[in-house]
Amino acid sequence: MEVDYIVVGLGLAGLAFTKELDKNNKTYIVFENHSQNSSIVAGGMYNPVVLKRFTPVWNAIDQLKVALPFYQELETQFQNKYNYSVPIYRIFKSVEEQNNWFVASDKPLLKKFMIPKISTEKIAGIEADFGYGVLTNTGRIDTKKLLEDYSNYLKNTKRLLIEDFEYAALAISPSKLDYKNITAKKIVFCEGFGLKQNPFFNYLPMREAKGELLTIYAPSLTIDFLIKAAVFVLPLGNNYYKVGATFNWSDKTKLPTKEGKQELVTKLESFLKVPYKIVDHTAGIRPTVKDRRPLVGVHPKYSNVAILNGLGTRGVLIAPTVAKSLFNYLEKGDTIDAEISITRF
Ligand SMILES: Cc1cc2nc3c(=O)[nH]c(=O)nc-3n(C[C@H](O)[C@H](O)[C@H](O)COP(=O)(O)OP(=O)(O)OC[C@H]3O[C@@H](n4cnc5c(N)ncnc54)[C@H](O)[C@@H]3O)c2cc1C
Repeated sequence: MEVDYIVVGLGLAGLAFTKELDKNNKTYIVFENHSQNSSIVAGGMYNPVVLKRFTPVWNAIDQLKVALPFYQELETQFQNKYNYSVPIYRIFKSVEEQNNWFVASDKPLLKKFMIPKISTEKIAGIEADFGYGVLTNTGRIDTKKLLEDYSNYLKNTKRLLIEDFEYAALAISPSKLDYKNITAKKIVFCEGFGLKQNPFFNYLPMREAKGELLTIYAPSLTIDFLIKAAVFVLPLGNNYYKVGATFNWSDKTKLPTKEGKQELVTKLESFLKVPYKIVDHTAGIRPTVKDRRPLVGVHPKYSNVAILNGLGTRGVLIAPTVAKSLFNYLEKGDTIDAEISITRF
């Protein structure tokens, strides 16, 4: 089989890159071994404001301009809904936080998202003595549903192999790549935390962060916005909510743990005051990088061996933009922004 590209990994990075290939009529084959599941378990929220400090998220406004049409195109392509508008209610812990909110909401970059008042609306089942700050123009991508549809699309068009990509079987020469019975012009690695097994790129400083999430059923909680306090409570519909997430820098497995669950329950019950039932518990590893920026570029020795990784905690927003950057670099000779280029390491 001869293709323009081999793509390794079908999370948000692999999806965004192959979408770029499709748009440009490139041929490709994708390898996916289900070793990671960050994109599947993710909350899927996009929000251009850092909820701890009320500062702008790095490049988020520009990324949003690329991301929204990107998900819209996928909705049209598969005739399914992935993008849900979800306002965010940030519970204040103090008067000081209320003041910080006012100051931040007056900043030009944040004005469009932060409503400049303290909401004191009573929400049944939620304890919030200092009220809320409300964010609009934020939302959630149903990444699980999107990846299911996308995987089926690739399977039906015979472009997805559910198997391990074996690094040792890749033969690299300047003009082509050979892998078993496949010949390709280029390869792009989009393996998330799987990067650690990749002999070409495992020198890059990934500082992965495991995250755990619960799904709860709370029949008397009826909200259609996300509540953010010690943890977030994200509405999924029909009184189901996702609760998350933990950050753990030492556990490298994608298995849910008793400790993770306990941490989420304790934090949840600090502000949720209605009965609920835990119906699911998942975990994944966020591919975060030492300097919290993506990893985009080609191998220092092989210009046909590329990487798209380091989406960290914000894959939904970042993936479409960085996939475009990598494609334009590989196919049009554009430069990659120094902030995301792997030449910084
Ligand atoms: C608990 C949690 C909550 C999150 N919440 C949000 C959120 O609300 N909003 C947001 O934007 N982001 C969120 N994220 C982060 C987001 O999930 C990541 O930024 C994003 O999913 C990373 O995508 P990726 O494609 O780089 O990696 P992954 O999703 O890990 O995909 C990599 C893929 O490569 C495959 N693979 C690896 N090695 C091989 C190999 N050798 N052969 C074949 N296949 C291979 C893996 O199986 C995997 O499918 C969250 C993450 C977690 C864990």
